[in-house]
Amino acid sequence: LGEGATKCFDFAVIGSGVAGLRYALEVSKHGTVAVITKAESQESNTNYAQGGVSAVLGPLDSVESHMQDTIVAGAYLCDEETVRVVCTEGPDRVRELIAMGASFDHGEDGNLHLAREGGHSHHRIVHASDMTGREIERALLKAVVENPNISMFEHHFAVDFLTSEEGNETYCHGVDTLNTETHEVIRFISKVTLLASGGAGHIYPSTTNPPIATGDGIAMAHRAQAVISNMEFVQFHPTALADEGLPIKPTKKRDNAFLITEAVRGDGGILYNLDMERFMPLYDEREELAPRDVVARSIDDQLKKRNEKYVLLDISHKPRDKILSHFPNIAAECLRYGLDITRDPMPVVPAAHYMCGGVRAGLFGETNVCGLYVAGEVACTGLHGANRLASNSLLEALVFAQRAVKPSIDHMTDSSLSDSDLWTRPVVPLSPGSKTVVNIIQRTMKVREELQSVMWKYVGIVRSTSRLKKAEQRIGELEADWEGYLFEQGWEPTMVALEACEMRNLFCCAKLVVSSALARHESRGLHFTIDFPYLEESKRQPTVIFPCSPMKV
Ligand code: FAD
Repeated sequence: LGEGATKCFDFAVIGSGVAGLRYALEVSKHGTVAVITKAESQESNTNYAQGGVSAVLGPLDSVESHMQDTIVAGAYLCDEETVRVVCTEGPDRVRELIAMGASFDHGEDGNLHLAREGGHSHHRIVHASDMTGREIERALLKAVVENPNISMFEHHFAVDFLTSEEGNETYCHGVDTLNTETHEVIRFISKVTLLASGGAGHIYPSTTNPPIATGDGIAMAHRAQAVISNMEFVQFHPTALADEGLPIKPTKKRDNAFLITEAVRGDGGILYNLDMERFMPLYDEREELAPRDVVARSIDDQLKKRNEKYVLLDISHKPRDKILSHFPNIAAECLRYGLDITRDPMPVVPAAHYMCGGVRAGLFGETNVCGLYVAGEVACTGLHGANRLASNSLLEALVFAQRAVKPSIDHMTDSSLSDSDLWTRPVVPLSPGSKTVVNIIQRTMKVREELQSVMWKYVGIVRSTSRLKKAEQRIGELEADWEGYLFEQGWEPTMVALEACEMRNLFCCAKLVVSSALARHESRGLHFTIDFPYLEESKRQPTVIFPCSPMKV
């Protein structure tokens, strides 16, 4: 490491989405904070969230009802204590956001407008039209920028945690990062580290997640001996805009599929096949308001049976001014491609959307690695079980970012900054622009597409043991080929380049998903396999991947 390449902070926060920013603001009252983020600060899944945050704020609603809806959507795999904590503490976390300047929609009565989404039995979704995440991110970033105790490090890619072993315990002392603009390695030494790096949607070819979501945090945590749980439960959002069904096709493939929020179905949107036959009543009595997994599987079934590429979602029967005021962002995006949603149905397909599994966390965001806490999508707290209820993830991030504060401060007070000599493994950035690097990047991007296609083909919405085994084998071959190529090009394990690091993490997450899916011998929530098509009470346990050990269910 070069001179000046080590920075010391009381708290290192990896990720500038809702979880990371909310936590940073709170712990900054007790020490110095580095927020480390791999792209621009606002680039996060949070920034794209449309529908809103669920919270019990209506007079007829109750914590018990929110809990029940969460547990039913989670196919009874949720941790009941976690569900209770999140549903109980959620309303205060939303009020705090408002106090910090987040502005949400109000109804004609002057109260917060509460929307209703699939799987919720009450109107309880607080939102800022269909751009809720952007508003939350804006408000939190503004507060962070104004906070003298917080330093933001954009374009710093977290590569690996700095860890040490004492007895049976692993301790986290910070993180090595790659500055992707200057190509320097910067080491952050911290007393406490919060991992808030979001999801892993890019293990699939079509995802609503922005390009940052490559599962880096889960892979880093796995390499650092953290316990990982429930990775088989990948949520496919049933309704992403199907570009091929638009009157004007986008000129290049999007980085992330454009989401058509659940709220469209909540507001009366109806799903049709291409013959304009309404199909949801054939699959579920809750029709279009059934939970996401049911709707995604129903659409998948229609597409396979009818050999079609997309279905249609129609809201045009609703008053034009209501459509435009509730969904201005969706209306504008569709109009760019020649589609007026106040008159025409939208072409939609399912796309990878949310990772219910992740780094196993206790009720205070603690992990089995001392000094490492997790919050947000990267964490598996037990809230979502086998399927996340709509709008529960921003809520979970807010609640756990807050719950991790107290133990973090206690840990910070008891710790001193450790000597960086503890970690001798050098990390060397590859000098950009050389022929070798260009070759490596080109090959890596090709391998990435192949991995994504294997995941979609064999580890998608409907699974089978033979297809999962094929995926396992094919991923192993792809990874071995890729590593072989890297070494041929003079690559060494200590070298870092953004594309290669992301690829390594995508491989890791894909393998965790496949092995978790193979270990679950039942169909539950988001995991549906034709070989074990039923839910089995005896299998009602999370999958747990201990470091370097075989899977336990
Ligand atoms: P993110 O907001 O994803 O932030 C992760 C951060 O980590 C980013 O800043 C990223 O750059 C950084 N990062 C990642 N890897 C690294 C690395 N290696 N080094 C440094 N930094 C790194 N949820 C709801 O509750 N309601 C909704 O209406 C809703 N709608 C959604 C719509 C869309 C299109 C999408 C994609 C998601 C939606 N979700 C919704 C899910 C929700 O937005 C996310 O689960 C939530 O925002 C996650 O917050 P987070 O802070 O955990 O992660």
